[in-house]
Amino acid sequence: MNRRIRALICGFLLSLMPLCAGLAEEEEIVFTLEDEVELVEVPVYNDVEWDFPLMLSQMDPELIRLANKHVLLSRDYVPDPLVTMNTRKADKQGNNINGGVNKASSSSMKLQGECASALVEFFEAALEDGITLYLKSAYRSYQTQNTMYYNRLKKNNGRDDGWVSKPGASDHQTGLGCDIVSKAWRSKSLNRDFAKTKEAQWMAEHAAMYGFILRYPSDKEDVTEINFEPWHFRYVGRDVAWYIMSEGICLEEFHERLGKAVDAFLASGGDPALVQAYIQTSAE
Ligand SMILES: [Zn+2]
Repeated sequence: MNRRIRALICGFLLSLMPLCAGLAEEEEIVFTLEDEVELVEVPVYNDVEWDFPLMLSQMDPELIRLANKHVLLSRDYVPDPLVTMNTRKADKQGNNINGGVNKASSSSMKLQGECASALVEFFEAALEDGITLYLKSAYRSYQTQNTMYYNRLKKNNGRDDGWVSKPGASDHQTGLGCDIVSKAWRSKSLNRDFAKTKEAQWMAEHAAMYGFILRYPSDKEDVTEINFEPWHFRYVGRDVAWYIMSEGICLEEFHERLGKAVDAFLASGGDPALVQAYIQTSAE
């Protein structure tokens, strides 16, 4: 396809998503396009072409922030704003009446502001489809992760089994990572069997519409270096979520592609100030 008229279609495609998203197999999501899409010109920022399927305005650098064992967040990184999630309150018919997302015993869970609102919408959409979801784990500070990591190591005779991230490497420190489960799995220890539940399947199918991605897919364990987690969803914003889920990539691969686009933009004389926020360096 002509580079000048390459498709920049994410915003448009989002409106088609309810038609397109479908679960092909238990853990695999396939998007098919049934309608013609409009082609938009590749954007140019100050005369330099931006060769990437998403425009800069479609990507909030804070919402796509990476945290993994190679790109660590600093010990004082705290998402802003950080809001406390409501405990679920139901009326006599069992309807959720306050946008609550968690169970009564864990009322101190916090998430980044935009992610928090998106999660409430996500849970409400689930309820409309007869699916009740529970937030099991949300924001974790560097210090909390530090404690969890060393407790896990102690339990495993010093061996890192890939289940608990190192401090600074946890997606939960971004305030955008959410462990979401069904009622039956609220107090169970999580494992990949959760993927077989109707709740996990509903989430995998609908997450992108609300700006969430499956952060640790089963076919990307070699890239994320984290075991498949069918309960861990990560907020990245709608356009980025659609792109990641429809391409079948993980957040690490998204950053690899974005990094190449940033490099090409700079090599062509693009203004560094425009892309600076997308260049993330490890805290250590
Ligand atoms: Zn998690």
